[in-house]
Amino acid sequence: MLKQDKKPSFLENVNMMVNDTLNHIDIDPNIAKILKTCRSVLQVKFPIKLKGEIKIFHGWRAVHSNHRLPAKGGLRFATNVNQEEIEALASLMTFKCAVVDVPFGGAKGGLLIDPQKYDEESMEKITKKFARELIRRGYLSPARDVPAPDVGTSQREMGWILDAYKSLRPDDINHMACVTGKSVDHGGIKGRLEATGRGVCEALKEFFRHPEEVQRAGVNKELSDQNIIIQGFGNVGFNSAKALFQNGAKIIGIAEKDGGIFNDKGIDIKELEKYQLENNTILNFPTTKTIKNSADLLSYDCDILIPAALENVVSLDNADSIKAKIICEAANGPITYRADQRLREKGKVIIPDIYANAGGVTVSYFEWIRNISHIRMGRLNKRYEEHRGEAIFKAIEQISPNKLPKDMINQLVYGANEEDIISSGLEDTMRVAFQEILEMREKYNLNNYRLATYAIALKKIEKSYLELGI
Ligand code: NAD
Repeated sequence: MLKQDKKPSFLENVNMMVNDTLNHIDIDPNIAKILKTCRSVLQVKFPIKLKGEIKIFHGWRAVHSNHRLPAKGGLRFATNVNQEEIEALASLMTFKCAVVDVPFGGAKGGLLIDPQKYDEESMEKITKKFARELIRRGYLSPARDVPAPDVGTSQREMGWILDAYKSLRPDDINHMACVTGKSVDHGGIKGRLEATGRGVCEALKEFFRHPEEVQRAGVNKELSDQNIIIQGFGNVGFNSAKALFQNGAKIIGIAEKDGGIFNDKGIDIKELEKYQLENNTILNFPTTKTIKNSADLLSYDCDILIPAALENVVSLDNADSIKAKIICEAANGPITYRADQRLREKGKVIIPDIYANAGGVTVSYFEWIRNISHIRMGRLNKRYEEHRGEAIFKAIEQISPNKLPKDMINQLVYGANEEDIISSGLEDTMRVAFQEILEMREKYNLNNYRLATYAIALKKIEKSYLELGI
């Protein structure tokens, strides 16, 4: 039993959530042991000569599960990465993939580095060397372990990793699939960059399609009626804000590392995007008030709080001050186990990370499929669909004297392109997963989404292990 005054680590928090779920559902006790164990962790310390000086870098890759292959999970470049954190994130990946039916195991990697301190040339050298360390030890390949962007990494790093892999394994015809989240020019897929944020928006849209759930949360009926505060304006935070803004929601506050901005009338996210590009910060954006200590924004009055930056940002220290009625976890592990319990007691609705931010791995899965099938999605059937649409339109014209409106004709005579297919696949995944969460909550008489979501993950993984053998 943990003492009340000792703050559990991220990994302990995840394991407490697993234990909590195990207390509510029937799982084979042997499988339960596996679920809390990280299968393997590679630790590397490698030297690089940068500008005439040797520097040693420290990195990890953890594979939590390999009941399905490849294992999948982001690569994090940050100054506070450590093995426990990477193991915690790897286990969340296992559960997340199961929730959204992505047939991958769970993994995560991290490199202890402040990317701001190095120029592009040095970052390329460091990233490629780290990638080679992982590749040589079997921790990076299209079939075994496929990284993606996470905190501190982006399309740029994924491109470098792909290049490193290709040069070490030139005979691997599937080399493109060794990493996801690449740029579209180098085997990436349209929509992956925005996928996690769009998935967050899809999760909320799906929630608002269920009036009884909305009523329980005690908020207005429509997503467009909500006041939202977001923590983090990086890939996930920005793309969540953008998608929600496009869907009519009002973003009233954004918290960043160096401060926050607030306007209770709403922030124009499109304008903010331009402002950030020009000024390299969101601070002092016209019409907004600057909040010096951005963490204060977590406790501001709003309907929905979206932590999209870091883990453990809502703990017992600030749980009682949270005013939002709904917390949608765009980041991994933003709420500690104990804070989660406290918030539940207070009737807060929490849409858990392993569902809410699963849009990223979902579209990564689509990218991986595109890479191993060596063909753009929609390439074979787009024109076929258009010709069928034309035939239907002509048939209607022949039997009816009425003319169809132009926009209806355009809709009929339209074959889906890759972006349409990806966005429909993402929407479907998020909608189906939410319905499964509701069914699981009902089946085991659970009183919150987190338990129901973990229950789905644990039951699916149990089935997979029992069928394959251990
Ligand atoms: P990112 O590096 O692009 O963005 C993180 C942002 O958070 C940065 O803008 C940073 O300045 C800001 N930030 C850091 N400390 C902060 C603080 N104390 N207060 C406010 N803001 C702070 O990273 P990301 O890819 O957007 O990832 C964010 C979270 O989402 C992480 O938990 C990550 O694991 C999770 N996630 C990411 C993806 C993905 O596809 N990138 C997928 C699933 C989950």
